[in-house]
Amino acid sequence: MSDSGERAPGGLNTTRPSVARMYDYYLGGKDNYRVDREAVDRVEAAMPGTRQVAHQNRAFLRRAVRYMAGQGVRQFIDIGSGLPTVGNTHEIAQEIDSSARVVYVDNDPVVLNHGRALLAANRHTTVVTADMHRPAEVLEHPQTTELIDFDQPVGVLMIAMVHFLTLEERPYVMARLRDALAPGSYLTATHATTDGLSADMVARTEAVYATTPTPIHFRPRAEIAPFFDGFDLVPPGLVMLNEWRPDADASVPQPCWLYGAVGRRP
Ligand code: SAH
Repeated sequence: MSDSGERAPGGLNTTRPSVARMYDYYLGGKDNYRVDREAVDRVEAAMPGTRQVAHQNRAFLRRAVRYMAGQGVRQFIDIGSGLPTVGNTHEIAQEIDSSARVVYVDNDPVVLNHGRALLAANRHTTVVTADMHRPAEVLEHPQTTELIDFDQPVGVLMIAMVHFLTLEERPYVMARLRDALAPGSYLTATHATTDGLSADMVARTEAVYATTPTPIHFRPRAEIAPFFDGFDLVPPGLVMLNEWRPDADASVPQPCWLYGAVGRRP
């Protein structure tokens, strides 16, 4: 993409940073504008190593999808899927079973456009525009119900997403999603934490995200655990995500500030 907002496709706001495009830049992607890169630079100044954490987050996603698929899950809803990157959910799931179905959900129009192009030839995968704050929009979207059988286990992914919910929204949104899921379903989520960070680092990072349409809320572990209410956490539970079943060849642990867990619906 170019830097000139004037040439940006319709509906795209390039005067405000977008979390989808910021995240793309953390991962080394090309789908971002100057305003996004400047926002990321401010986050990096506040919290050096954020790019590594973004990569750790993707590695956790891949391990969790492999785990859920290993437990027999053949359908996934990836809420806040982000711009296409290497090792997306459908690639991991379909390595295990080529008929595994994946619904990608995002509220950013750029994600929809890229996703459609990428997935045009994959009939087990779709991308829908819906808002996590309104779970019915996600669950009842015609493309969701076309691909997902809610009588069978579903793996729901909310990777680097639930910290965009307020504590007031948490009970309703999480219960609505959980109650739609059959026994044997899974919720996998990661959440930014204040644990181990200085108040100044957190405040500066939250201030950058406050300039986007998507404010972020760093929280202590005790406020993150209730996102998994109604799920049994798979060992090792809610941990720094680089400590969640690391691959045997994982490099030396890096500092991390995202908790991650996989919960099973009994
Ligand atoms: N889950 C991916 C991407 C995280 S970036 C990963 O962890 O690698 C966050 C994504 O959530 C962005 O693509 C952004 O557009 C999307 N998003 C933010 N708020 C949302 C909402 N309310 N509903 C759906 N998607 C949202």
